[in-house]
Amino acid sequence: MKRLVVLGGGESGVGAALLGKEKEYNVFLSDAGKIAKKYIDVLRHNEIEWEEERHTESKILNADIVVKSPGIPDHIPLIQKLNATPISVISEIEFAALYTSANIIGITGSNGKTTTTLMVHQILSHAGLDVAIGGNIGDSFAKQVLNNNANYVLELSSFQLDGIENFRPHIAIITNITPDHLDRYDYKFENYIASKFRIAMNQTSEDYLIYDSDDQVIASYLETHNIQSTLVPFSLSRKVTNGTYLEQNKIIIEFNKRDIIMPTTTLALEGKHNIKNAMAASTVAHLLKIRNTTIRESLEGFQGAEHRLEQVLTINKVQYINDSKATNVNATYYALESMNTPTVWIVGGVDKGNDYKALYPFVNEKVKAIICLGKDNEALFDAFGTMVDNIIETQSMSEAVQIAYKIATAGESVLLSPACASFDLFENYEDRGHQFKAAVRQL
Ligand code: ADP
Repeated sequence: MKRLVVLGGGESGVGAALLGKEKEYNVFLSDAGKIAKKYIDVLRHNEIEWEEERHTESKILNADIVVKSPGIPDHIPLIQKLNATPISVISEIEFAALYTSANIIGITGSNGKTTTTLMVHQILSHAGLDVAIGGNIGDSFAKQVLNNNANYVLELSSFQLDGIENFRPHIAIITNITPDHLDRYDYKFENYIASKFRIAMNQTSEDYLIYDSDDQVIASYLETHNIQSTLVPFSLSRKVTNGTYLEQNKIIIEFNKRDIIMPTTTLALEGKHNIKNAMAASTVAHLLKIRNTTIRESLEGFQGAEHRLEQVLTINKVQYINDSKATNVNATYYALESMNTPTVWIVGGVDKGNDYKALYPFVNEKVKAIICLGKDNEALFDAFGTMVDNIIETQSMSEAVQIAYKIATAGESVLLSPACASFDLFENYEDRGHQFKAAVRQL
């Protein structure tokens, strides 16, 4: 019996352990932190040996395969030790892919992964395909592989892609690339870019790489690297050959033949970034020969994901919008861009070395007041202090929302789009978004 050691007892680790058990490995799961009760229950129920709050090396260094959770960085001593042995250390994505020959659609990028993944899943389900969604969203890929679906739509983070060797999606999407998570990439943007492009590294000319050709980072990588995949660009700004573009506010796909997919005006989600996401998702569907009507109906009925430009309530004709998932400047850029009313903007949190310049035009044009919500708001004052009349410091969500309520008048909006991580005052971005919604509902 081969020994599978899984490091990390979260969604992906427990999924890999379950799949390993099913494939008759001798499985051991180890987590240096605490494992959530719901996962411990699963491990017990499936008689999988596990430990928490430690890594017992004697039980790990005897592995045939190690599956490492994406959250564990490479520089920790245990991983260094493993890397010095012949034991292969892979991600749960790589492990799961060994046990399926399904059609895989992999989606990565700095922003828009979840939204695009949900859109693709919606279109494929609506078309009646046997399809499951997983990866960085919902259930792990490994757990889904246990169900033997014919198609998988996977959201993939750069950390998940770092641990692949042979994983080969038939269709890949890179939504965009802007600096993020650089602490895990030696503060080198090029390392992070290379990590995103790993999604295509095993593709051949029979596979497709769909990407935003307006994104300079992606475009220049493609110019300087030899990629085997069949490239399918999409663009908001110009006509592209063998790709997807806009003509008179309609999404056109010209790949083998020319197809008019749908007008952008009837898309359920607003904002230019969502037109891009819709273009990427429709391109996948088109390559899979799904009918245009099915694509259109799916995207017209698409319900956005929670915490992504989510409309919460309208109170006294003021709209409250929760974009808590905007944890970097680029995501907030699209949020501010899509606002078409004067806006009271709640921003701040853990600043990852943000450069706010890209936001200046929108702030000048649309932002009426800024409410800073973070432990340390100095960077925000430096960036925007002279730009708006009203910039206020707060330390709790309820205070921030109450102040916003006082400032905003009929016809305006209150937007939570932090451009920062949430860990100073909140557990995570979901907690931040839930607190925002709760505070708005209490007004
Ligand atoms: P991810 O899963 O990559 O974090 P999400 O779909 O969850 O992406 O969206 C994260 C944030 O980025 C949200 O604030 C959302 O409004 C914004 N966003 C969504 N799509 C895009 C895009 N294509 N480009 C830039 N920002 C986007």
